[in-house]
Amino acid sequence: MANTHQFQTEVRQLLDIVIHAFYSDREVFVRELVSNASDALEKLRLKQLTNAAVYEGERELRISITTDEEAKTLTIADAGIGMTQDEVVEYLGTIAHSGTKKFLEMMKESKGGTQDLIGQFGVGFYSVFMAADEVEVTTRSWQPDAAPVKWVSDGKEGYTLTEAAADTPRGTSILIRLKEDAADFARAEHVRHIISKYSNFVGFPIDFNGEHLNTVQAIWMKNKKDVKPEEYEEFYKFTAHSETAPMSYMHFSADAPIVLNSVLFVPEENPEIMGFGRCEPRVALYCHKVLIDSKPENLLPEWLRFLTGVVDSEDLPLNISREMLQDNSLLRRISGIITKRFIKHLEGIAKDSNDKYESFWQQYSRYIKEGIVTSWEHKDALGKLLRFESTFTEAGKLTSFADYVSRMKENQKDIYVLFGSSRAQLEHSPYLDALTARGFEVAFFTDGGDQFVIDSLMKVEDKEIKAIDRANLDLPPLEGQPDKPGLDENQAKSLTDWIAETHKDTFSKVTTSDRVTSAPAIALQGENDISPEIKAYLKAMGQPVPEVHPEIAFNPHSPIVQRLAQLRSENEELAGLLADQLINTALLRAGMLEDPAKLADNSQALLEELLAK
Ligand code: ADP
Ligand code: MG
Repeated sequence: MANTHQFQTEVRQLLDIVIHAFYSDREVFVRELVSNASDALEKLRLKQLTNAAVYEGERELRISITTDEEAKTLTIADAGIGMTQDEVVEYLGTIAHSGTKKFLEMMKESKGGTQDLIGQFGVGFYSVFMAADEVEVTTRSWQPDAAPVKWVSDGKEGYTLTEAAADTPRGTSILIRLKEDAADFARAEHVRHIISKYSNFVGFPIDFNGEHLNTVQAIWMKNKKDVKPEEYEEFYKFTAHSETAPMSYMHFSADAPIVLNSVLFVPEENPEIMGFGRCEPRVALYCHKVLIDSKPENLLPEWLRFLTGVVDSEDLPLNISREMLQDNSLLRRISGIITKRFIKHLEGIAKDSNDKYESFWQQYSRYIKEGIVTSWEHKDALGKLLRFESTFTEAGKLTSFADYVSRMKENQKDIYVLFGSSRAQLEHSPYLDALTARGFEVAFFTDGGDQFVIDSLMKVEDKEIKAIDRANLDLPPLEGQPDKPGLDENQAKSLTDWIAETHKDTFSKVTTSDRVTSAPAIALQGENDISPEIKAYLKAMGQPVPEVHPEIAFNPHSPIVQRLAQLRSENEELAGLLADQLINTALLRAGMLEDPAKLADNSQALLEELLAK
C-alpha cells in the first residue's frame, strides 16, 4: 500500500535550509534523535507505571544504536512509545513544534549564519537530513491495536508510508542512509565519541553495536561533591539542546520538609531575545527519576521561565495528572522553596563576582523586574537584586540599593528615584535640583515598566522609595546655603493665591518651594494623581483616563518669579501671560502638558505684548 505524501510547505522550507546550509557541527542530529528516543521511553515508562494497557512484546526499555560502515548507515532504535500512522503523519510531516516554527521565522529575517541557528534552536527530527540521503522510520505504537508503519523520505518533496512487518516490535527504529560526505557517522569510533559525551545523562541504557555503553545516572540525584563542572555542562547541553555552556547552574537537594533534588541552569543567552516570543517553561518535573511532565506550567513562577533543568520530588504521586498539577499544594510549596533557593543563588553570584552578576543582569533584568511585580512573597529579596544607574554613578555604571543605602546622608530618610527614557534626559530634570543641593543620590530608572516595578516594591533595605516627581517628598531643610534674595512670605502667598484663583480647579496645590533651585517653576505629580507613564499607558490601551491635578511650585529665588510678583500691579495682562508661560514650561518638562499648542500660543501672545511696548 505504498502511499506518497507531500510535506507541509513549512517543512519543505525548513528541509531546504537544513539540506543546503553549511554545518560546523552537524553531529547535533545524533543528539536530537537520541533525545527523541529518550523522550519516547520516558513517556512509555510513565504509561507503564500508571497502569495503561501497553503493547509489550519483549523489548526492554533501552536505546540501540548500530553503525554499518560498509553500508554507510546509522540506526537509532528505541523501545519507547512509538507512533501510530496518524501520529507519524502529524509529527514527521508537519511542523507541530513551536520552536521549529520560530526557527523558520528567524531564518526568513536573517541572511546567512544559519548553521549557528540550527545548533542553537534544535530543529529536532528534521536535522537528520543534514547527514542523510534517505531516512527510514519503522514504528509501532504502544497502543495494542495500532498497526506498525514505515515512513521513508529523502527529505525533499515528501515521504512514502507503507505497512511495516507484523513482527515489528514496539517503539521506533530510525535507519539513516548517510550522504557521501557524512559517511563518518557510520564509523563506530566517531559515533561512540559523540554519544559518550551525554550518554550518561540519558535515563535508559544505550546499547552501541551490541555493547552496553552508559551507566544510567540521574545527575540531580547525586551528591554535589561527586559531579564535575563538565558533567553539568554536558547535561545542560543535552537536555536544553544547546551548543553553548550555561551561564550558571545551581544544584540543590533537601530532605525536609519535602524531598527535593534539583539542577537548574541559566542559559548563556536570554531565550526571548531576537524577536523570539515568550518561551515555554523548560524545567522538567520528575518523581524519583521518572519524568512526569517535561513542560509543567505551574512548577515555577512565570518569571523564572528562562531556566532549564530538572526538579525531582519523591513526594509527588506518580499518576499525577496535568489537571492535578494545576492546583496542587505540594507543587506550590516546591515552587516556593526552589524560587527562594534560586534567588539565594543569584545573591551568591552578585556577592562573588560583580562582573558575572552584571552579565546576568544584562540578559535577564526584565525577568527579575517581572518577579517583583508578580511574586509578592519574593519581592523584597528581588528588590536587592535590582541594578541601576544614579546621579552618583558614571554613565553606564550600575549600582544596587545596598550600595545606595551605604552612601545615604545622615539626614536622609528615604531612597530617591526618578523615571524617564534615558540617563541623558533624567540628568536635565528640574526635579534633581533639590536632591543634589542636599547631597542626596537619585537612582535612575529608564525601562518602560520601571514605574510599576518600583510602585510594587515600595520599600527596599528597610527604606521607603520615593519618586522625586511626586509632591510629598518631605525633604529636610537645606543647610549652610547662603541667603539668596527671594520673595518674602507675604509676596509668596499673594503670588500663589493669585495663580490658584486664576487657575481654579486645575492644580491641586500652588506653592513656593525650596525644592526648585534652577528653574523658575516645576510641576509635580499631585498626591492622588496617576503618573504620566501610567496615563500614557491607559490612553494607549483605550482606557478611560482619570483627570489629574498636578502641583505647581515656584522658585522664590528666581529673578523671573520675583519680577512676576511685581509685574501684577503694573500690568496684570502681561503678568498673566508670563505666569502661564512659566506654568506651561514646567508642565512640558514634567511630561504633563496636555496640549503643546497652548505653550506656543502663549509664547506668541507674550512676545506680542512685550514687543508692543
Ligand atoms: P520535539 O522532540 O521537540 O517534539 P522533534 O522534531 O524532535 O521535536 O520530534 C517531533 C515529534 O516526533 C516528537 O514530538 C514525537 O512526538 C515524534 N517522535 C520523534 N521521534 C520519536 C521517537 N523515537 N519515538 C516516538 N515519537 C517520536
Ligand atoms: Mg526532539
